[in-house]
Amino acid sequence: MTAQLSLLPRAPASPPPPLGAAPGRATTFYAIQARSVLNNPAATHMPFWSVNPYIGCEFGCTYCYARDAHRYAVERGAGGPASQRVGGSAGQALPRADPFETDILVKVNAAALLPRTLNPERVGGQPIVIGTATDPYQPAERRYRITRGLLESLLPFRGLHLGIITKSPLITRDVDILTRLAERHLVRIYISLAALDGRLVRRLEARSPAPHARLRALARLAQAGLDVGLLAAPIIPGITDGRDQLAALFRAAKEAGARRVSGEALRLGPAARRHFLPLLAREFPELAERYAHRYAHRHSAGPDYIAALARRLDAIRREVGLEDGQGVGRTGGQADRRSDEENLPIRRPADPPTR
Ligand code: SF4
Repeated sequence: MTAQLSLLPRAPASPPPPLGAAPGRATTFYAIQARSVLNNPAATHMPFWSVNPYIGCEFGCTYCYARDAHRYAVERGAGGPASQRVGGSAGQALPRADPFETDILVKVNAAALLPRTLNPERVGGQPIVIGTATDPYQPAERRYRITRGLLESLLPFRGLHLGIITKSPLITRDVDILTRLAERHLVRIYISLAALDGRLVRRLEARSPAPHARLRALARLAQAGLDVGLLAAPIIPGITDGRDQLAALFRAAKEAGARRVSGEALRLGPAARRHFLPLLAREFPELAERYAHRYAHRHSAGPDYIAALARRLDAIRREVGLEDGQGVGRTGGQADRRSDEENLPIRRPADPPTR
């Protein structure tokens, strides 16, 4: 029988209708000339270097921590001298405030910038992780191919430790370049998925790929000989932290070919809180008060919950026979906000697609 951690009561048995994307929803893409693309661990306070090709994410998960970074980048662009356009049509406005899911900032010069600014000696063997704040294989990548360009730009190097985190099966498009990279570098890919139940996932993540599609992508990568793992994050207290739920998820990932797993509990920044807590009140009303209390004065679920969850994850991981991913998925939050400040000014791409 599934046992939720004791912090919060269990989710209701019968879910209401899914929260789908609004049909006809338009997305606008803005090109930015990034001044830096490789975020230093000293700035992010994370034990790895990070690269994020996009600011904003069409997948639109309500809890997404990167919402704050997007708002900050947009506010900087709209308010400071960096807002002066370097191209695009006259009269076009900067993105509206808080358009995290519909106004996507594209770092169009990222692939050219990365090899110029990457100093392997300075990196010193630490991982360089692509996709710590926003998904590098979100729908925009199908058109702009910024992530693919970044991967290609790393081919001339040797001996780096590269990580890639995504929820998107689009990563399988790049199996060719990933396998070539794996001949030159240590490459570890993490497919992000925190629950197997597609209806439950849809209640929490508006437009993310379905669990079975993510597992299929994981299997495809593994079959190509790539080192791929599961990132079970964020684990939502009282909703996706059941022992049986997590064990089934870990087993499914293992069967698909995952070598390792990493997981962490939900964190809520200010913008994510504004999106997630109303959804929680609507979808899981029995948890609303507990969440309001738990997350009232901090971004995390608290040290007691985090410790209990870590013990649970570790026990299941050992049972299933997966290696420890050692927290590779932890996002930068505040740190990514700082680095994205460097990426303005904003302009529209010459050919802005609308979806
Ligand atoms: S896929 Fe990742 S980056 Fe995109 S909205 Fe969801 S959590 Fe945020």
